[in-house]
Amino acid sequence: MPKSMIQRTLVLLKPDAIQRSLIGTILSRFEHAGLKIVAMKMVWVDKELSKKHYSEHINKDFYKYLESFITSGPLIAIVLEGIFAVEIVRKIVGSTEPKKALPGTIRGDFAHHAYDYANKAGIAIKNLIHASSSIEEAEKEVKLWFKEKEIHTYKTVHELHVF
Ligand code: ATP
Ligand code: MG
Repeated sequence: MPKSMIQRTLVLLKPDAIQRSLIGTILSRFEHAGLKIVAMKMVWVDKELSKKHYSEHINKDFYKYLESFITSGPLIAIVLEGIFAVEIVRKIVGSTEPKKALPGTIRGDFAHHAYDYANKAGIAIKNLIHASSSIEEAEKEVKLWFKEKEIHTYKTVHELHVF
């Protein structure tokens, strides 16, 4: 097995996904693609964790909306594992702005929010989900959200076919 191509990536089902009862629907998209859930927990994020997770956005105008949204209710943090998982998961998730996200993607199929609307309303863009955007970001984020002992090793049936 060419192990160097097996990656881990962090996914957050944001508070809007939980409150809209979309956990199972969204998770099934990843499961159906053959990605393996190797860690998962429900977390009510505080301001400190929000600032660590979104450190690159702290000085942007929209950060205050983002923080108030991400701390507004519990979310589900997940580590997914698979072949080129970082890129594959971003593809399944779709563009950041639901208005631009293509049909067939999670953000395109289950949301329709737009930057213009959110910025005028003084709220965060409701885009259901976060996914690490690069291998480096994934490594950093998996470490931020999970201890090594919370990440599990087991076999799925997909491994018979794709690995
Ligand atoms: P995420 O990191 O949540 O997966 P992303 O990687 O697609 O989303 P980023 O550029 O990292 O997009 O932005 C992080 C979050 O900040 C977005 O999910 C969105 O909620 C918010 N955001 C980003 N850019 C803007 C903007 N121009 N106006 C309002 N909110 C924004
Ligand atoms: Mg991002």
